[in-house]
Amino acid sequence: MPIHEQSLIRPENLTTHEEKIIDGIDVSGHWSTFIESRVVTDYNEQMEDEIAALPGGEFIHRCWQCGSCTNSCTVNAVNPEFNPRFWIYLIRMGIESELIRDKDIIWQCVSCNKCTYACPRDVYPEGVMKATSHWLELKGHTPQSPSAIFDEVCTDQIVDTGKIEDGRTLRRFMQKTGQSLLQDWIVAMIKQLVSHLPVSLLAKMGLSTLIAPRTSGWSGARRALKRYIEEQQTEQQMAVNPVVAGEEKH
Ligand code: SF4
Ligand code: SF4
Repeated sequence: MPIHEQSLIRPENLTTHEEKIIDGIDVSGHWSTFIESRVVTDYNEQMEDEIAALPGGEFIHRCWQCGSCTNSCTVNAVNPEFNPRFWIYLIRMGIESELIRDKDIIWQCVSCNKCTYACPRDVYPEGVMKATSHWLELKGHTPQSPSAIFDEVCTDQIVDTGKIEDGRTLRRFMQKTGQSLLQDWIVAMIKQLVSHLPVSLLAKMGLSTLIAPRTSGWSGARRALKRYIEEQQTEQQMAVNPVVAGEEKH
C-alpha cells in the first residue's frame, strides 16, 4: 500500500464545487474538494527489471515503502517533489507515465547518501536514483543529464590517462554542458587557490591541465577498461532496449 502525501496531489486533480448540497448538508466551496480518481492502463511490467539491471538499481525489489529515504533526503528538504520513495513505488508498480512526469528532477539527486544510511532494507536508494536517470536517458525520455555528463568526463579521463586532473575535468564539463568558465564561483575559487597555494604547485597544476600527464604502463589497463565499458553498455542496452541493442550489434 503506498503512503499518500499531500505534495503528491496534483492541483489539476482537485475539484471544488461552488455550490454543493449532500444529504441536506451544505458542503459548498472548500468543503466539497474532491481528488479526482486516475485510471492507469499503460503499465510497463518490465520497468522494475529494466531498472534493476542498471548499476545501482539491483536491490529495488527490497523496498517496503517505509519512506525513510524521502524523510532523510537533502533534495526533498528543499523540493518536496523530489521523492525517492514515491518513484520506487511507481517503478515497482510499472506506472511509467507517472514516473515520466518527474523526469526532469530525478537526476538532481546530489549523491549525499543520507537515504542509503536511513534505509532499513539496504535498497541503496541513491543507486536507484542514478539507475532511474540512466534508464530515462537510455529510453530516450530525457537528454543526457549534467550528472551523467560529469561521470562521462571523469571516466574518459581515467580510461585515457589513468588519472583525474581537476582543471581538465572542470573545463571539459563546462564545455560539454555549454557553460562559460567565467562564472563567479570559478573566479572566486581560483582567487582562493592563487592566494593559498605555493607558486610551484600552481604552475604544476596549470601544466597538468594543458598536457594531461599519463600513468606509466597504462595501455594494458586502458584496453581492459575500454572492453569492460563496452560490454557493460551493451548489457545495459540489451536490458532496456533489446531490439535496438540487437540491431546495433549486427
Ligand atoms: S543520495 Fe540523493 S536521494 Fe539519497 S538522500 Fe541524497 S539527494 Fe536524496
Ligand atoms: S528507506 Fe528503503 S525501504 Fe524505505 S521507502 Fe526508501 S528505499 Fe524503500
